[in-house]
Amino acid sequence: MPELPEVETVKRGLAPAMEGASIARLELRRPDLRFPLPENLAEAAAGRRILSLGRRAKYLLIDLEGDQTIIAHLGMSGSFRVESGGPAAAPGDFHHPRSKDEKHDHVVFHLTAESVPLRVIYNDPRRFGFMHLWKRSELDTYPAFVGLGPEPTGNALDADYLARRLAGKSQPLKGALLDQTVIAGLGNIYVCEALWRAHLSPRRKAGTLVTPTGRPKKELLLLTEAIRAVIADAILAGGSSLRDHIQTDGSLGYFQHSFSVYDQEGEACRTPGCGGTVARIVQAGRSSFYCAACQK
Ligand SMILES: [Zn+2]
Repeated sequence: MPELPEVETVKRGLAPAMEGASIARLELRRPDLRFPLPENLAEAAAGRRILSLGRRAKYLLIDLEGDQTIIAHLGMSGSFRVESGGPAAAPGDFHHPRSKDEKHDHVVFHLTAESVPLRVIYNDPRRFGFMHLWKRSELDTYPAFVGLGPEPTGNALDADYLARRLAGKSQPLKGALLDQTVIAGLGNIYVCEALWRAHLSPRRKAGTLVTPTGRPKKELLLLTEAIRAVIADAILAGGSSLRDHIQTDGSLGYFQHSFSVYDQEGEACRTPGCGGTVARIVQAGRSSFYCAACQK
């Protein structure tokens, strides 16, 4: 499953090709992905200009003129690539490599940008991705967006907000932070990384970061900063991978994501002076990676 920084990187990579371009034709090569593609999708998109690209949690938003937004989710294996006569360029890097096999090209945006034809192709071997069409003025009513918490990249996520949401909770921090109504789009990898940076155990009871009067303890201030920083750093890394790959021949070299604690079971903890070893435990069916020596 792509994480939020990967979706943000895809958005930033597609924006130069798609924003301001007109959709000459939207070609649907099959009726469904994970869900049926909207019956009116091709018709609603044809002839419309793309105003801008956006993102909410792990969803890509393609804003069309006329109050319509295409909501796209990459599922497990979805990816976009841009073809403009030259070699194909795939925006964004993924923790797991993406397919470029043409038999998995399911949706093709035939675009015209300043009278230059351009194709943006959605490829998805496992077809867990999906697309919906929604009125932009009613995006709040899209089922996956109802009750969704603030973005980890936005100003709404601060320690006072998290104190309100975590107060009194005996749930472990790991699960509390994965709750999408608390923070939108924060996934397993970045929860592990943020907890490691903040020196907090994923087993710690969430409510213990809040004072009896409901104020954030210093540890919660550190955690809030860590969440914002891991996401910002990952988006930055995605951006630099995008530049690297645009400079190459257009074929995407998947850069190795480097995580400090995620997937590092048995490795020495990278906290300076710690000397501990990263362990893996399973919480609510998901792997948590952490260092018991410095995460309390
Ligand atoms: Zn450690």
